[in-house]
Amino acid sequence: MPRPLPPRGTFAGRTLQWLGERLTGRGAWRRYAPAAARFYAHADAAGLRARQTQDLRDLLAWAAARVPFHAERLRRADLDPARLTGPEDLARLAPLTRAEVRAHAEALCARGPGAPTRIVPIVTGGTTGEPLRLWQDREAARRKDALTEVLKRRMGWPRGARAAYLWGAAADLPAGGLSRLRRWKDDLFERALPRALLLHAGRLDEARLDAYATRLERFRPAVLQAYPSAADLLARHLLARGRRLHVPMVVLTAEPVFADQRARVHEALGANVLSFYGSREMGWIAAECPTHHRLHLNPLGVVLEVDAAGVLRATDLLNRAMPLLRYETGDTGRLSAGPCPCGDARPTLDRIDGRVGDIFRLRSGRRLSSTLADMRPAQQTGLGLLDVQLVQEDWDHLTVRYVPGPDFRPADLGPYLAFLERLFAGELRLLPEAVGRIEPEPNGKVRHGICRLPPEGP
Ligand SMILES: [Zn+2]
Repeated sequence: MPRPLPPRGTFAGRTLQWLGERLTGRGAWRRYAPAAARFYAHADAAGLRARQTQDLRDLLAWAAARVPFHAERLRRADLDPARLTGPEDLARLAPLTRAEVRAHAEALCARGPGAPTRIVPIVTGGTTGEPLRLWQDREAARRKDALTEVLKRRMGWPRGARAAYLWGAAADLPAGGLSRLRRWKDDLFERALPRALLLHAGRLDEARLDAYATRLERFRPAVLQAYPSAADLLARHLLARGRRLHVPMVVLTAEPVFADQRARVHEALGANVLSFYGSREMGWIAAECPTHHRLHLNPLGVVLEVDAAGVLRATDLLNRAMPLLRYETGDTGRLSAGPCPCGDARPTLDRIDGRVGDIFRLRSGRRLSSTLADMRPAQQTGLGLLDVQLVQEDWDHLTVRYVPGPDFRPADLGPYLAFLERLFAGELRLLPEAVGRIEPEPNGKVRHGICRLPPEGP
C-alpha cells in the first residue's frame, strides 16, 4: 500500500529545490512522476502486463525501424513487434552482452527521421572490465529520474530529504563524461542545495570513520545511502566504541546485502535498512518493499528477465537513442514465487546474488552464489573472524582470505573451514590466508566472492 508522503520541508528549501531542478533540467519528473506514482499505486497484475506489452511493442517497433543492429536481430528471430503477445516473447531474441555493445556501439544507435537529437552519455562503472560508454536521450534520462523519485517515495524516502552518501568511486563521477556546462550546473545544484553530504567510501580507516560519524551527527541526514560493506564498516566501528548514530533510513546498494550487515547497521545507526538494485545503464531496476523486504520491479522503466541459472537480462523501455534489449546486467538474482503480501502487484525479486563473476563454478557442474558461500563470520557466535573473502583461483582451489579479530584463536578457523568443505563437497581445496583487511576494488566496492575462472561460453 502507498505510504503517506511526509511534509516537504521549508519554503526556502522548496524554492532552492525548484531552482536547482530548473538549472539541471531535471524538473520534468513533475509532469511524468504523478502519473507513474498513480499507476504503481493502483495497477493490478493484468494492468501491469498489458502496459508492459504495449510499451514493448512500441520499443521493438522503434528498434526495428531505426536501429540497424536490432532490426537485423528481430528479423532473424522472426519477431514482429505488432504481434508481440507478452513480455515473455522477448526470449526469442538473442541476449545482448557488454562485449557486443562495445563492438557495435554505432549500429546500436537510432538513426533516421525522429531519432533523438538531445543525447547524454552514460559511462558505466566497470568493476571488473573497462568502462563502457553508452548514450541515452534526454527524455529517457528525465523519465528515469522521475521513476527513481516514485520508487524512493514508495520506499518511504521523503522528497527533498537531507541525504548523506557514503559512496565511492572516481568511476561513479566520470569527469570526462560530462560537458563543462553540465559539470558547472551540477556543481551549482549541489551548492544551492545543502541537503547532500558526500563521504568518500575509499580507505575507511579508524580515524576517517570517527570523522565521518561526527560529520553525520552534525548533518543529521534523513537518509544515508551507502555500499553495504562501507555502511557495515561504519556500524562495526560505532558498535566497537559503544557509539550510536540516529539516521532514520539507510539505503544499501551496489553490492549484495548480507543479513548480518543489515542487523549491524540497524543496531548502530538506529535505521530502517532498505536496498535498491540499479545500474547506470538502466536506472533503478528494483527497490525494496518497506514492509516485506522483497525488491519490487520497476515495470514502467525496465523489463527484467531472470533465467533458470538466475542470470538477469534487462530491457530498457525508455531509451530510444540507444535501445538496450535483453541486456546482460552481469548480475544474478531470484524472482519471488508469488505476489508480495503488501498488495503492490509489481513482481518482486527475493534477492540479488551479485555479479555473475562472483558465482563459483565446480567441476560437477554445480554453481554456488558467493552470497551462499560467504557465511559472514559475525553470524557465527564465538568466531574470532572479522571478515572473509573467498577467491576461486581455478577449477581446484579456493583462497579463503580472513581478517582475524583481536580475540582470534587459530582454532576459530576450524568450524568455518568445515562449513566451506561441506558446501563445496571437497570439490575445491581450501587455502586459508590471514590478511589485515579485505581491500575494496578501485571503485570503493568490496567483493566477498570472486571467481577467477574465464567467463563461460560466448
Ligand atoms: Zn511489497
